[in-house]
Amino acid sequence: MSATLVKSIDQIAAELQGYDPQALPAADVARFLSLLVAPVTERLELPLFEALGRVLADDVVSPFDVPPHDNSAMDGYAFDGAALTPGTELHLRVVGTALAGKAWQGTVASGECLKIMTGAIMPAGLDTVVPQEFVTVQGDRITVPAKLLQAGDNRRLRGEDLRQGRPALSKGELLTPARLGLVASLGMKTVSTLRPLRVAYFSTGDEILSLGEPPREGAVYDSNRYTVFGMLKRLGCEVIDMGVVRDEPALLEAAFASAAAQADAIITSGGVSVGEADYTKAMMKKLGDVAFWRVAMRPGRPMAVGRILPEKTGASPLSTSASSSQNHNNPNGAILFGLPGNPVAVMVTFLAFVRPALLQMMGTTAAAPPLLKARSLEAMRKKPGRTEYQRGTVSRAADGSLQVRTTGNQGSGVLSSMAEANGLIVLHHGQGNVAAGEDVDVMMFDGSI
Ligand code: AMP
Ligand code: MG
Repeated sequence: MSATLVKSIDQIAAELQGYDPQALPAADVARFLSLLVAPVTERLELPLFEALGRVLADDVVSPFDVPPHDNSAMDGYAFDGAALTPGTELHLRVVGTALAGKAWQGTVASGECLKIMTGAIMPAGLDTVVPQEFVTVQGDRITVPAKLLQAGDNRRLRGEDLRQGRPALSKGELLTPARLGLVASLGMKTVSTLRPLRVAYFSTGDEILSLGEPPREGAVYDSNRYTVFGMLKRLGCEVIDMGVVRDEPALLEAAFASAAAQADAIITSGGVSVGEADYTKAMMKKLGDVAFWRVAMRPGRPMAVGRILPEKTGASPLSTSASSSQNHNNPNGAILFGLPGNPVAVMVTFLAFVRPALLQMMGTTAAAPPLLKARSLEAMRKKPGRTEYQRGTVSRAADGSLQVRTTGNQGSGVLSSMAEANGLIVLHHGQGNVAAGEDVDVMMFDGSI
């Protein structure tokens, strides 16, 4: 990444009409983040088995036509379709057998046909295949029933899948299983990808316990690192787990320095609420260029977003691995997503804002999955002027349409109703109360959650 042309928080804010960090609409958060982040550019040539989920750095151009020859789509008999006469059966003599993987040597004259296997090359002059189950065979003669076929049936054409010299896949596409198979079908053993994003994350808060610590009154076990870990893994990011960081300036500074030295992005949870009596916000200010927001949404109102800047992190990093010096991949600093502490708010803000921003940083043209419409089985209270996310279970009604009901307690700390849900009901900024039976938008949890 070049060190030039990086926009500061103030410069981005100046580009947004009516930017109000104290009441920021969800749509403005998305726009802001899209101006803040940039795709990685470093490439990695990877063997196919290691490329699943990675992003293509270049178009994949087909070196040949696929399939390379006209071939049979069926086990059957190949013949010249010009011999078909409407309404009459056709009698043909079988002169040989063409197997897949071998070109048949010989000629097939008028009144003759060739037994052919699926995938076998169609000899010149033959363009039609009758599947073997439809013919009657007597010795070396077959009868093709009337009205069954048209010329060209059951033949795959050369290049019908992919054309030589044309892109079979485009730069920015995610390597899904089907696309891995497609690259393999072109005979390519490796593929040029963008390197995966490295994302460091830690939880903050003196009341947060790491697993293994004995329970303590007023303390809760850290769940945010696990939900964040899961969502990052599903996106194909490399994760750097930095544990729970106590609310002490020296520890926070070391954690941010270490994260900024290793990662493209840093995700923290907790410590960004208004009136929070801790050092997290102060440290973000000290080490970076950061905006503190109250987003017009529920759950997940407080958020901090910006960059942690290598030149400001003088402290020696906590971790020794890969962090003896500044982050060379990332001279402009690591992007900071300072999420609220509430477990559901963390997931909702991740899905609504962090996921699209990370996809952009990954260099992929793939979008987050589209919202679906489902009929609400219950009335929902909703104030216009903020975006609300409710946890819901989407199912199919008897008539086949989609319906949705909420999953119990919608408190922003209640993870059980999140665990029970299969999607989020999105009640948009301008929307008011929802009546039972009304259609609402839902964001289905897919592979990323
Ligand atoms: P905060 O945003 O720091 O004010 O935290 C809001 C609420 O979320 C508090 O009840 C915290 O105890 C809880 N919380 C914060 N961080 C975590 C975490 N890592 N795991 C579980 N709960 C958390
Ligand atoms: Mg806190």
